[in-house]
Amino acid sequence: MKKIRINHLYSQSMNIYGDIGNIKALLHILDLHNIPFEIFSTEIGDNKVKEADIYFLGGGQDKDQYSVFKDLLRHKSFISDEVKKDKVFLLICGGYQLFGKFFLDAEGNFIEGLGILDIETKAPDNKVTSRCIGNIVVKLNPDFIQRFDIDTSFSDYIVGFENHGGQTFFKNDSLIFLGDVIQGFGNNSFEKKEGCNYKGIIGTYMHGSFLPKNPHITYGIINRALHNQNINAIKMDKTKLIYESKAHKYILNKYQIV
Ligand code: GLN
Repeated sequence: MKKIRINHLYSQSMNIYGDIGNIKALLHILDLHNIPFEIFSTEIGDNKVKEADIYFLGGGQDKDQYSVFKDLLRHKSFISDEVKKDKVFLLICGGYQLFGKFFLDAEGNFIEGLGILDIETKAPDNKVTSRCIGNIVVKLNPDFIQRFDIDTSFSDYIVGFENHGGQTFFKNDSLIFLGDVIQGFGNNSFEKKEGCNYKGIIGTYMHGSFLPKNPHITYGIINRALHNQNINAIKMDKTKLIYESKAHKYILNKYQIV
């Protein structure tokens, strides 16, 4: 079987609130199903982005985003081509913002994004009270469930932790939300909508880490990468997801959601 290749983009610069747990969750499930994998990263100054099946970009503080955005822009045409090929991208928080048109931080610094996602992000000011911080629970959008063939027998929610000053808005109808916010903020303080899906891209404000608490999404991501290689989908074995299930249900119970 061909290897599933994972490229951790800017692993040294964009990795906050345990985002590395997303990579660990992917490797754990690949291992569980005896699927061979290869993991590598792309860092500031690298000549090119090594081709992969799944790309991951974590979150970061404003200054981290500032330090990587120019480097990322050098790779715009390669990444755009990969998106066109339906490659899978998981983007968390600051990483999600960097795939949009821009992030204007509270100091007025303009951080240009790749513009692959037609979204814009602005931080209103530096006040802690203006930030979106805390646990977040989202009811999955049926369109997203269908596009990523998410096994909702595990759950039709996703849970995580968010901490962002940026307020994100869609500028185009070709994007869909990951779901409706039941607890927390999501993309911004107004719309009660979280995250974004466009082709193989999943953008989300969920840290926490995201995938270890949401294995149905891990399976969706891996299955999409397998599908791109004409390999049959793997089925979730819930008896092997005891800790993931406990972590997921803990948050749902805390907010009396199920
Ligand atoms: N710097 C961004 C913001 O605050 C992203 C933060 C993050 O990745 N947690 O909006």
